[in-house]
Amino acid sequence: MQLPDGSIRLNRELCCNCGECVAVCPSGARVISGKTMSLGEVMEAIRKDEMFYRNSGGGLTASGGEPTQQPEFLKQLFRACRNYGIHTTLDTSGYVPWPVLKDILKHVNLVYYDLKDLNPQIHWRLTGVDNYLILDNAKRISQSGVPMVIRLPMIPGYNDSTENIKEVASFVTSLKVEKVDILPFHTLGRKKYDHLGMAYHLGDLKSYTEEEVARLVKTFGDLGLKVNIA
Ligand code: SF4
Repeated sequence: MQLPDGSIRLNRELCCNCGECVAVCPSGARVISGKTMSLGEVMEAIRKDEMFYRNSGGGLTASGGEPTQQPEFLKQLFRACRNYGIHTTLDTSGYVPWPVLKDILKHVNLVYYDLKDLNPQIHWRLTGVDNYLILDNAKRISQSGVPMVIRLPMIPGYNDSTENIKEVASFVTSLKVEKVDILPFHTLGRKKYDHLGMAYHLGDLKSYTEEEVARLVKTFGDLGLKVNIA
């Protein structure tokens, strides 16, 4: 719809993703990201790069959003990749019932596991959900023998106090993990929210400076946990 100042505002309630505006938008401002594909189509695309995967030691990473929200498709995709000898990585928040996750893990070579915070209240504030299931699944994956990389998003003023870091470090060192990455908050995703017409709830936060990131790494290190910056 056209606003009184002449600008155009998309009414997302009415949009059916037909894509017609993409073809006619004179400035190229309209794009459709992503498309629906069958398992066969995805595998065809993957197999085109098969030699690259083999020569580089790479593979398929299912990320998101949250890939375990489509458990059946994901399981079949991972299974098909492994049948072709392609390495599979699952990047997950862990917020998924264990029986579902366990079933997917049968076809997974490596798990990237995101841990936001150990404190249930802070976790709720950051994500809108409790962290019990996530922590429980982390322990179960650790016991399952599937290699796991822990990823810790660090949000200024939310989960980066020494007390929070102590709790996280203590939990992570109780697990069997390949390595631990920290993901320092940055503002690069802000524009994406604007494009999608979504509210950006961390708008007041600034990216970490190099010194602040170095301080986070040192705090983890002082607690006996070596972390990498991702
Ligand atoms: S994709 Fe574009 S043309 Fe199609 S309904 Fe949505 S806004 Fe309208």
